Amino acid sequence: MSGQPPHCMSDYDPDSLSIDDVIARIETLITPIKAMESLPLAEALGRTAATDFTAPLAVPVARNSAMDGYAVRYDDLSGDKPTHLRVIGKSLAGHPYTGALQPGEAVRITTGALVPTHADCVVMQEITQRDDEHLTIDLTNHRRGQFVREVGSDIAEGDVLLERGTRLGAAQLGLLASVGVADVSVLRKVRVALFSTGDELQPPGTVLQAGQIYDSNRFTLRGLFIQAGCEVVDLGIVADHPRALENTFEAAKACDLIVSTGGVSVGEADFVRQVLQQQGTLHAWKVAMKPGRPLTVGQLAEHALYFGLPGNPVSGMITFYLFVAMALRALHGRSKYTPVTMSAVCSNTLKKMPGRVEYQRGILYRDLDQRWSVKTTGRQDSHVLTSMHEANCLIVLGIDSDGAQCGERVEVIPYSELRAVLDA
Ligand code: AMP
Ligand code: MG
Repeated sequence: MSGQPPHCMSDYDPDSLSIDDVIARIETLITPIKAMESLPLAEALGRTAATDFTAPLAVPVARNSAMDGYAVRYDDLSGDKPTHLRVIGKSLAGHPYTGALQPGEAVRITTGALVPTHADCVVMQEITQRDDEHLTIDLTNHRRGQFVREVGSDIAEGDVLLERGTRLGAAQLGLLASVGVADVSVLRKVRVALFSTGDELQPPGTVLQAGQIYDSNRFTLRGLFIQAGCEVVDLGIVADHPRALENTFEAAKACDLIVSTGGVSVGEADFVRQVLQQQGTLHAWKVAMKPGRPLTVGQLAEHALYFGLPGNPVSGMITFYLFVAMALRALHGRSKYTPVTMSAVCSNTLKKMPGRVEYQRGILYRDLDQRWSVKTTGRQDSHVLTSMHEANCLIVLGIDSDGAQCGERVEVIPYSELRAVLDA
């Protein structure tokens, strides 16, 4: 379009759907996974909680110290001069002092050790002097309850710790361990059948003939599905031929999700839609976005959801994050996740035509004034996979935007937030 006057430069299409509309339509096609299995806690990383988890006990389970020092009675501490107490024993982590504290007494205590009965205050070791059993506390200004971790101050018994649908990450596994859970009920993994379509595609490790390229999509997408905690059935490269596609769909339809790339445009070798229409239900949508305008979604054998992603490698990844990742959340019974975006100062001019939301690849950095700035990775064509590698964020330019000038603020989605769509 370059070279045309600005008023002609638009990309509006009345037949296009917005991204939110498409997500809403996909959600209506999804039946969440119900089947579950029980796993030892240590094997449950990345899996999805199949039930709510209620705390069977409080954390801390008993009053304990947050400091190394002395457990004392607050009422024994003098207001404005050093306090003198008698040390009658010690309470170490795992070795509690079993007696009760009488007035004038103190117990040596370590972090995590039980605070003895009648003690209601821990004094830091650093402000004390010890001479045999005589303890002097130099400083004043204490608070009742200081450095004492009360029963249930983190988790109360009966609290819902984690809700069904929660992805079990490191913190969640630790949390379950902290209340003594040894085995967890998790959803079975989502099974994904993945294949690439295109007569030009060859697997890495072969020698390319004229007109051939290496199949990269199966590697990016497989990686994304594994990161999302799915089981991937790799159905390889499928020729642009109706029979080959029919056989592949047949092999794929036992899975929850079938994902292919390529062959969903309107080219003469694009048979995916035709075959899908014969075998199931087809929805072919134009999405007002770039990259990734054509998106094909379908249903096969009642339960299997199909995504036909564009063949261009960048489009495949971005449509995965926007649509497939949302579908995975819904399959796991998780609610929609809205990535946290930032505003950054654009340090280039960004070209764009109004009419579609555009996701350009950017590099977010702190400029000399410590402001978050973003620069483009350069060429934004949807085959430029180096842009996905070099970028650490997507720059989101709204549907009506006609680009951005250097110094203008733009919205960006950090890559960590794209990961969060899979993890959170
Ligand atoms: P298509 O959607 O089939 O028209 O493909 C669009 C563009 O993406 C073409 O240039 C294809 O060669 C390319 N392409 C399709 N599938 C892949 C793949 N699996 N890996 C790399 N490039 C692909
Ligand atoms: Mg193709």
